Amino acid sequence: MNSDTNINSYHVAQQHIKHAVDQLGLPQDVYEYLKAPMRMVEAAIPVEMDNGKISVFIGYRSQHNNVMGPYKGGIRFSPDVNADEVKALSIWMTFKCVVARVPFGGAKGAVACDPTKMSLRELETLSRRYMGRMAPILGSKKDIPAPDINTNAQVMAWMADEYCNIQQNNDFGVITGKPLEMGGCVGRETATGKGLMYATREAAKARGILLQNSTVAIQGFGNVGSSVARFLEEQGCKIIAVTDIDGGVYNPEGLNIVGLLQYHCETGSVKDFPGSSAIDNRELFALECDILIPAAVENQITGEVARHIKAKIIVEGANGPTIPEADEILTGKNVLLVPDILANSGGAIVSYFEWVQNNYSFYWTENEIQKQLEQKIVEAFKYLNSYCTSYTCAITMREAAYIYALQRLYDTMKVRGWMHV
Ligand code: NAD
Repeated sequence: MNSDTNINSYHVAQQHIKHAVDQLGLPQDVYEYLKAPMRMVEAAIPVEMDNGKISVFIGYRSQHNNVMGPYKGGIRFSPDVNADEVKALSIWMTFKCVVARVPFGGAKGAVACDPTKMSLRELETLSRRYMGRMAPILGSKKDIPAPDINTNAQVMAWMADEYCNIQQNNDFGVITGKPLEMGGCVGRETATGKGLMYATREAAKARGILLQNSTVAIQGFGNVGSSVARFLEEQGCKIIAVTDIDGGVYNPEGLNIVGLLQYHCETGSVKDFPGSSAIDNRELFALECDILIPAAVENQITGEVARHIKAKIIVEGANGPTIPEADEILTGKNVLLVPDILANSGGAIVSYFEWVQNNYSFYWTENEIQKQLEQKIVEAFKYLNSYCTSYTCAITMREAAYIYALQRLYDTMKVRGWMHV
């Protein structure tokens, strides 16, 4: 799902690790250890379609590293997903879980399919068959999937049910992001957006920008983009532009997000929302605004895009939306960039809460969950922000996040006897 097919996200993720290894002065063996997933499973998944014909879908599960705990990471359904994209996403999960201080390793799953062209029955069969292929390597103490692009609580319910049937148990902790009826956690669906809002609020404070009346542009209006739009509007922000895969909308006075959500619900897109003018991704990224939130897919902020960015703060809702060349340009322009592995960790954090509740069969109130989510994001932000300023030389928040996480991964690998250098 890379917008620029010349950019390989796996190489980008490896670059992040290599850079942190060099900055910390760790042995190159650490890079060799972490540059590839510990296990990558690719499976052919036959599904009988409604027309009676068999379609064979390719499914993936990349388990990057589990030194910190069971593997954890979402499953996406997307037509052009490939093995390298999944490997990259699993690497980012390993680092994200350390930054968020949740005791998980990193994994990611995917199926190359276009869910918009499939019936509910076909989707259910595909979800169950995917689980059939992957069940041996999953488990509440082994590897715990969750939703990602084009998957949701219903898909998680089908997969978790299939797992329970195969294992002949009711181990709901095998998957997070489930419906409430099946051991889901209140607030999970909007947790990534809520966490992003907290990260944005902290970044604005750090830059001396008042959220009230600050202007925000958001790429992507799915689970993450739409929920952060709503939460930031509640904080008094003006969401002046939003794009999705079909088009975009702009209103310098601020879009009515409740109305846009309703419109999106009815039409499936933000395109042509009444009271707005059309805008594309290139124009959205170049807008005069305070805060920019890429919340769609990888590799959107290239060097060329970065050169035109005027926002003071970028908060990465998507995984891997910014390529390293753009990072350098943005640093040169003094843009405060809150990296994905911190900014969008709200989903991983509340997934952890869901997993704990499933393991104990004891459920918390929404208040408790929101309070702890806020606390975790704010702590992580403050910690990394102070790391940036106290480090021996000036580093970006992305560098701080990778350095911090890598040191902890390295220490734990040594303590467990995985490496002795
Ligand atoms: P989603 O499928 O709900 O929404 C994706 C949105 O991006 C849609 O509005 C789609 O139209 C839009 N989009 C896709 N390609 C686009 C393009 N080229 N230009 C503009 N818009 C485009 O997915 P989501 O769950 O909201 O995930 C979005 C991003 O956030 C992904 O990178 C995902 O990995 C990341 N993420 C999601 C979660 C989660 O809990 N869902 C957690 C952490 C990170």
